[in-house]
Amino acid sequence: MSRDDTPRRTAGQAGERTTSSGLRRRAFLSSAGVAAGALAFGTPTVTADDYQPVTDVPGFSCDDPQFTCGREVTAADGMVSTVDPIASGVAAQILREGGNAIDAAVAIQYVLTVTQPHGSGIGGGGFMVVYDADSDTVECVNSRERASQTASPELYRHDGEYDQDIETGEAMGTPGTVKGLETARERYGSCSRQRLIDPAIRLARDGFTVDWFLAEEIAENTDKFNDAAIETYSDDRGNLYEEGDTMTNPDLADTLECIRRRGADGFYEGAVAADIAATIREYARDPDQVVDEDDLSTYDVTIDDPVRKEWRDVELVGQPMPSSGPTVVAMVLRMLEFLDIEEYDVRSAEKYHLIAESIYSAWADRMEYMGDDEFVDVPVDALLSDDYLQSRADPIEFGGTVFPDDEMGPGQPGETTHFSVIDKWGNAVSYTSTIEQFMGSGKMVPGRGFLLNNELTDFDAEPGGPNEPDAWKRPLSSMSPMMVLRDGRPEFTAGSPGGWAIVSATFQTILHRYAYGLSPLESITEPSIYTHHMGGIEWDEGVPQEARDTLADWGHEVDDEPSEIGNVQVIASEDGLLTGAADPNRDGQAVGFDREPGTNGDD
Ligand code: GLU
Repeated sequence: MSRDDTPRRTAGQAGERTTSSGLRRRAFLSSAGVAAGALAFGTPTVTADDYQPVTDVPGFSCDDPQFTCGREVTAADGMVSTVDPIASGVAAQILREGGNAIDAAVAIQYVLTVTQPHGSGIGGGGFMVVYDADSDTVECVNSRERASQTASPELYRHDGEYDQDIETGEAMGTPGTVKGLETARERYGSCSRQRLIDPAIRLARDGFTVDWFLAEEIAENTDKFNDAAIETYSDDRGNLYEEGDTMTNPDLADTLECIRRRGADGFYEGAVAADIAATIREYARDPDQVVDEDDLSTYDVTIDDPVRKEWRDVELVGQPMPSSGPTVVAMVLRMLEFLDIEEYDVRSAEKYHLIAESIYSAWADRMEYMGDDEFVDVPVDALLSDDYLQSRADPIEFGGTVFPDDEMGPGQPGETTHFSVIDKWGNAVSYTSTIEQFMGSGKMVPGRGFLLNNELTDFDAEPGGPNEPDAWKRPLSSMSPMMVLRDGRPEFTAGSPGGWAIVSATFQTILHRYAYGLSPLESITEPSIYTHHMGGIEWDEGVPQEARDTLADWGHEVDDEPSEIGNVQVIASEDGLLTGAADPNRDGQAVGFDREPGTNGDD
């Protein structure tokens, strides 16, 4: 997320969702003491047969008894965890048919383009962290959007001022998602492109049921929609889709058909690419600096080695620059280890204080040093060195805060989606994908059915820092697709949407799991806090009043009302069993299967 004050969802708005099923569910789980166990929800084993109808019945809800929102799911032969039951069901079916984790992840992202267009899509980009069991290696498929090859550090200078408008062509980066998906499929997958994209095409063509979250995002973002978006998100009578409606998107079905036939070329070359470029140009202030057809046909992903950090008795791995996320996650977790955080109660002021102080510190380094490492020399090794992190942890004390600048409140999150897959061979995917804000720029490519990102607002508006805009540069991200490795093998995956809050949501989930020994679901629902270098603390419902009062006494600026920190999806792998959990603040869904319940399959 950028440093300027572009209009974003406010914490108040998020907190006002008290009537939504998701917030109620998460608050209930937290207050009912899920931190002490899964209670009446149990830990059911979900068999393949339970999900037989999934791809034949698009449009089902979390309230359907066959689904498992708010529960942990344990199975031996495959597990997916996404924000969307439809996507999870499609992916589980692919695993059951013999596809691997990467196949499932590709199918998930194509489905999310259709069913959850507010959070990610083919008009955006993302980071896919892949553990390949055959080669026993972790690689990152980096499909981050790039600025045009003609962009300059003055990209956002307009009428003599630096002004980063989220709806202009200058905000729209070269989309990377399709290239990322097709590269991942070719590099690690085993299924045909057609098999992996067909469920999304079917859903776009035949329709799916709009969930409460999509309905809310459609209603709240109409101001920035162009005509094509309004039309696509309205029914035949011209009314915006509401929860429970069946939505179709035939234009998107046609675009996906084009990719089905021609692969990534169907998106980056020819008529679709021409329409993308024309739409970006239409909203550009300076058409010479925005993404054009040449940028689209030139775009490619990079395959990155992950950032790695030993922590406790495991290893943290994740996407390196241009995401700051996993590096900051690792910095904070190591500082908290030096500070012996687990000695303090999981809901104590001391715990929250140590977390906040560590974030203030690491976030200051993020703003000072981090950017696209093709352009700036980011001292990652130095920032992650134990000597350095010990020196950053040492000054932290109880009774007062040393870092925040109280004059500035926290920034506001944008929106992405995170999902994870582990298959029976041990392959794993931890993938965070985005179009930046909710509904991205709000500008749909006419006739093509998908929204363009506004990812380039993740650059600083003004030149001079490591994250200034530049030609063909990638903006600094906070997305934190993480894996925790034990003896080199994935033991836990986690990630979240939420802009800068992604880092807070992700590392506290890992902290709860490893330092406090909570179950995968408890690790998500245990209340978290969110802050950054400018201070100000947002908090999940469930952070005790007493702890908040103490934090305020110690000098932190604590919000009056609760927020929702992230939307985390996790999978844990232990003793031959996979346990998945999706954040119950939305209708996320973990789905697993056993060919023989409770056992590992043998082929
Ligand atoms: N653009 C953000 C990032 O890359 C993700 C979107 C968001 O959740 O703000 O960090």
